[in-house]
Amino acid sequence: MGDPRPVETLLAADRIEARVAEMAAEIRRDFPDGLHLVAVLKGAFMFLSDLVRHMDGPVSLDFMALSSYAKGTTTSGEVRLLKDLDTTLDGKNVVIVEDIVDTGLTLTYLQDILRARGPKTLRTACLLSKPSRRLVDVKVEYIGFTIDDHFVVGYGLDYAEQYRNLPYIGVVGS
Ligand code: 5GP
Repeated sequence: MGDPRPVETLLAADRIEARVAEMAAEIRRDFPDGLHLVAVLKGAFMFLSDLVRHMDGPVSLDFMALSSYAKGTTTSGEVRLLKDLDTTLDGKNVVIVEDIVDTGLTLTYLQDILRARGPKTLRTACLLSKPSRRLVDVKVEYIGFTIDDHFVVGYGLDYAEQYRNLPYIGVVGS
């Protein structure tokens, strides 16, 4: 494959770092006695790793994988569970850690299946939100940044599996 296309920065690495630290403190304040993070692969891996680094005290984590955009920038709205959790959620304070909420279909599906597993509380943290794209009214308690309708990459987010390694978030140029 050739060189990846240039990416125009939307959110610089230092801005992301500062905001993720604030989010970690906010979540920790709400659950001082322990919490269980459920990260959605693959896009949330970098957000999760920075988030937990800013949390002291008891925290456990687990991963799930769902199908989203297969390749490209459009979604069918169909969501499939590709990898399930390793541990139960019964009685735990669970926070879903997701990269971005766009139409809201993925998170609605995820919240429904996780709520059915009996957590004590269930909340959601998303690094990014694109409210103008929402098709369903989904509740997200912790939002890092609200952005306009751009297809963004970097900091875990991909375009055709590229750009996840960028330490910042940007828009792919043409
Ligand atoms: P939703 O179900 O809310 O429409 O979409 C959620 C999923 O679509 C996200 O977890 C992410 O995988 C993908 N997605 C939505 N918007 C973007 C975007 O701007 N860039 C990338 N790379 N993925 C996106």
